[in-house]
Amino acid sequence: MKTWLRTMLATKCGRCGAAIEPGTPMQLWIWPGLRQRKVRCPNCADEAPPVELPPLPATEFITPTPVLNLRLMADMLPLDWKKRGAGDREPGEEG
Ligand SMILES: [Zn+2]
Repeated sequence: MKTWLRTMLATKCGRCGAAIEPGTPMQLWIWPGLRQRKVRCPNCADEAPPVELPPLPATEFITPTPVLNLRLMADMLPLDWKKRGAGDREPGEEG
């Protein structure tokens, strides 16, 4: 089965090795029941890409947020493993 789609990630054509940039139409050959797939760039495909191929959906970039290292917080005492083993609680953990 042959289908056209736009690439989400940069890939390469399986025939000429040309780089296919994200958003570029590519022809994908899929055989039902097999895991093998073939990727063809528009130049190597046996037909022209369809005009009505929908564009890629807009992606939302997630802004990375730093993870707080609880050990580095100045107001927290370091955990004492000997007291933890004896069942004592850290200040603020009573109850
Ligand atoms: Zn190609």
